[in-house]
Amino acid sequence: MGDVPELPDDPVVAEIREVADRLGLARRYRELDRAPSFPWEEFRAMGAAGLIGLHTPRALGGRGLSVARTGIALFHLAYLGGSAFAKLSLQPEFSSVLAEHGSPELVEEWFRPLVRGERLVGNQITEPGAGSDAGAMSMVARPTESGYRLTGEKSEAAFAIDAGAAIVYARVPGPDPRREITAFLVPQELPGTTRKASSGDLGERWMRRGTVQYADVLLPERFRLGEVGEGFRYVRSELTREHALLSAIYLGVARSAWDETVAYVGERTAFGRPLSSQEAVAFPLVEDGAELEAAWLFTERVLARLDRGEEADSGAALAKWMATEVALRTIDHAIQFHGGRGYSQDLPHEQRWRDVRSGRIAHGPSEVMHEIAARRLWPRH
Ligand SMILES: Cc1cc2nc3c(=O)[nH]c(=O)nc-3n(C[C@H](O)[C@H](O)[C@H](O)COP(=O)(O)OP(=O)(O)OC[C@H]3O[C@@H](n4cnc5c(N)ncnc54)[C@H](O)[C@@H]3O)c2cc1C
Repeated sequence: MGDVPELPDDPVVAEIREVADRLGLARRYRELDRAPSFPWEEFRAMGAAGLIGLHTPRALGGRGLSVARTGIALFHLAYLGGSAFAKLSLQPEFSSVLAEHGSPELVEEWFRPLVRGERLVGNQITEPGAGSDAGAMSMVARPTESGYRLTGEKSEAAFAIDAGAAIVYARVPGPDPRREITAFLVPQELPGTTRKASSGDLGERWMRRGTVQYADVLLPERFRLGEVGEGFRYVRSELTREHALLSAIYLGVARSAWDETVAYVGERTAFGRPLSSQEAVAFPLVEDGAELEAAWLFTERVLARLDRGEEADSGAALAKWMATEVALRTIDHAIQFHGGRGYSQDLPHEQRWRDVRSGRIAHGPSEVMHEIAARRLWPRH
């Protein structure tokens, strides 16, 4: 095809292709939208193939790849199987607070099985009254003789229905409200815990989001992760990696839509000539190709910074924002240039768009990504 942006490459890509093909990930991605449930079979198979926890250290059962190589792998998982399986691969990354601050017993009991694709761990920060402004959370963990008594409500949580345990952030009351927020691992079957599914989402339906209420739940001391009051500090460094790696996922999804659309408009004729001969069709696709590549190069730079241990919170936040916007524009063009079928569920584009749309809100809204970057430019504000 000539001078078309190349897909990022790495030795792990051949393995990903083999697994995606063997497990039929592209087909399963579509099924998960229509009949939402947690894909345990694929999760376990991906774990057995070493595709869960690509960046997780080998000592914890993971693959130990660099952040940059993990980004390339996630791009390809998303390219071949949509965002669902790439996000599954990333689950241990979302539980790094457990891996880094949990006791060896908790890591053995929950984190290693997560990397094997045998157990699922959720993350619960958001509350009905505290989302972007997570520091306003009100859930309380009052010390008891043998642990804590949890009271409060978490909302919007992915895997509210399917996770066996969740990393839950709550306040341990103390003299300084800024040093109260603490992380806990909370098995979701403890008495006093009630889970409720949300009424249904625009996309990523397989995550089965919902609300979890904690009514005087007694949690033994051993489930606290790290020190009291350090919960936010722990999760912050995890978020930077998450933002950069999510960017790779959104770009992988969008690139598949772009490739399919470029091929389609070259074949489809209207008014006696291929659609690609219409500038109004060709030029947006040309721009999308350039923007996808630019956003990927930007993301690659951020991933490399993370591997070098350099500050990258601003770049990672902007990568997530940029990738989400470029991906949504590209997929929207895919819907448009496939015409009536593009708008239908016969083709994957509308699902891709709905799934990627979460990128403007989940893991911090785009406005908050801008705020992170602005704070770096003007630290004294
Ligand atoms: C698919 C999906 C999965 C999710 N999974 C989880 C999960 O597993 N665990 C979890 O705890 N949460 C999860 N969330 C929740 C998510 O983190 C929150 O929805 C998000 O942080 C926004 O919080 P909020 O919904 O309370 O919105 P609000 O804080 O009320 O904000 C509403 C809107 O206001 C705007 N806004 C907010 N702050 C600012 C600002 N400072 N400047 C300018 N504009 C602003 C943004 O447009 C924002 O979307 C998930 C959300 C989605 C969509």
